[in-house]
Amino acid sequence: MKTSELIEAIIGRSGDVRTQLYIDGTWVDAVSGKTFDAEDPATGRRLASVAQADAADADKAVAAARRAFHDWSVTSGRVRERILRDAATLVREHREGIAQVEALDAGKLLAGAQADIDEVAFQLDYFAGWATKISGETMSADPNSMSLLVREPVGVAALISPWNFPLLLANQKVAPALAAGCTVILKPAEQTPLSALVLAAILQEAGLSSGVFNLLTGFGPEAGGPLVAHPDVDKVSFTGSTEVGKHIVRESAGTLKRLSMELGGKSPGIVFADADFDAMIDGTAKGIFWNQGQVCAATSRLFVESSIHDDVVEALSARAASFTLGHGLDPSTTMGPVVSEEQRARVAHYVTVATDEGAKVAGRGTMPSDSELKSGSFHEPIILSGVRNEMRVAQEEIFGPLLSIIKFDTADQAIELANDTKYGLAASVWTQDINKAFKVARSVRAGSMWINDALQAPSEGMFGGFKESGFGRELGKLGLDESLEYKHIFVRLPETPA
Ligand code: NAP
Ligand code: MG
Repeated sequence: MKTSELIEAIIGRSGDVRTQLYIDGTWVDAVSGKTFDAEDPATGRRLASVAQADAADADKAVAAARRAFHDWSVTSGRVRERILRDAATLVREHREGIAQVEALDAGKLLAGAQADIDEVAFQLDYFAGWATKISGETMSADPNSMSLLVREPVGVAALISPWNFPLLLANQKVAPALAAGCTVILKPAEQTPLSALVLAAILQEAGLSSGVFNLLTGFGPEAGGPLVAHPDVDKVSFTGSTEVGKHIVRESAGTLKRLSMELGGKSPGIVFADADFDAMIDGTAKGIFWNQGQVCAATSRLFVESSIHDDVVEALSARAASFTLGHGLDPSTTMGPVVSEEQRARVAHYVTVATDEGAKVAGRGTMPSDSELKSGSFHEPIILSGVRNEMRVAQEEIFGPLLSIIKFDTADQAIELANDTKYGLAASVWTQDINKAFKVARSVRAGSMWINDALQAPSEGMFGGFKESGFGRELGKLGLDESLEYKHIFVRLPETPA
């Protein structure tokens, strides 16, 4: 299917679009013939009937990726670069349409979706650049030998992605894997499959050979599970919850696959009294409310120095009340729905859990009144005060617009509280004292640390977790390395003449 036709069909919102899987360079129905609905979470309306893959389709996709692997792995870096750059150009050409698809399917603000699509285009260009710069090392253990440490693609990679930044988080697996010479099977989240279909159409249009990129839409256990256990898959790169991540580690152990695990978080923000107050309120509000709090690195626990605690609660409560909830494509909307009814119920449940444990709702936003949105999965932003770090609301990942505020008195106490979690994905610190900022930055056990900012993950940087937030790294050079093996080639040389 042509990229433009696919986009037009989805954003036309007739709901009668029927999509297919992309296997071995061809669009095909699922072997079972089954489909499931992709829905607009703001209205509950169907956007498309989506092909529902299972083990039979996974087998076909893995076989195609395996057949394509040798040729793609020895394709010149220059050719791989050209194709990824052409894909970047196509993403830019279709920016508005792809952003609308993403906003509709995931309940995002259009501006947020546009920012994601711009970053997707950048990532394709960025990793295209790496395709010609993959190099190894040489050394000699003795004068009559040479060791070449060469880099080779890992092989067939199964890429399993979540729903919160559907295309961006899928693409940051796809682009480095293709640049490295791997062939891939992408399994996007069942809640948000549509933008991955657009990526498949773009890669096809950019001239990628058959079998190098394959797409299985469907549910985790039926479409993703068979990939994870498949003997012909060399690597699994997974972004999602810690719970499913642990399951995947166990399931993949039988065939001992290379794994990259980007998992959950309960990221702390530490606010000192000497912070630039207005910038800190802007940044911490972004940290919890961006994308309705459905961000793995959302600053969901805010530790505030006692002397400014009440002022911070008041300012963030006013912020929560200031959002206009609505459809992401309505320009007056400043917060969209959460991704599904299930997710809305989960957030609402945690508000009850928190208040039952003694927390207070200090601030609350307003639900949309438009009758068009009455079946939408909206949850108003909530500020909780009086939270203790041991409460469930401060320990469990919620993934919604719900902020827990906790007081502290000393930097050491704040660090101890910040580290008192099973997660270690990201953290932020707000202060104008460079020494205090670095003390916190070096003491908090997290893969990303933001000083006077939040949610920064530039694609040329690095992202990944400590502790139960996972292992392996995405983005930047380290993200490319996840798709490469080292091979040692030892050469025996003739005796050096005396
Ligand atoms: P999820 O439920 O863990 O699902 C993630 C992906 O795994 C989906 O494609 C899902 O398919 C698939 N899956 C589920 N069960 C599976 C199985 N048995 N075998 C193979 N695949 C399976 O996560 P989510 O709810 O989509 O996303 C939210 C979570 O992702 C949060 O915990 C968040 O912190 C985490 N996340 C982490 C990062 C990071 O970089 N560290 C970034 C974003 C999100 P279905 O679509 O059918 O469920
Ligand atoms: Mg959807």
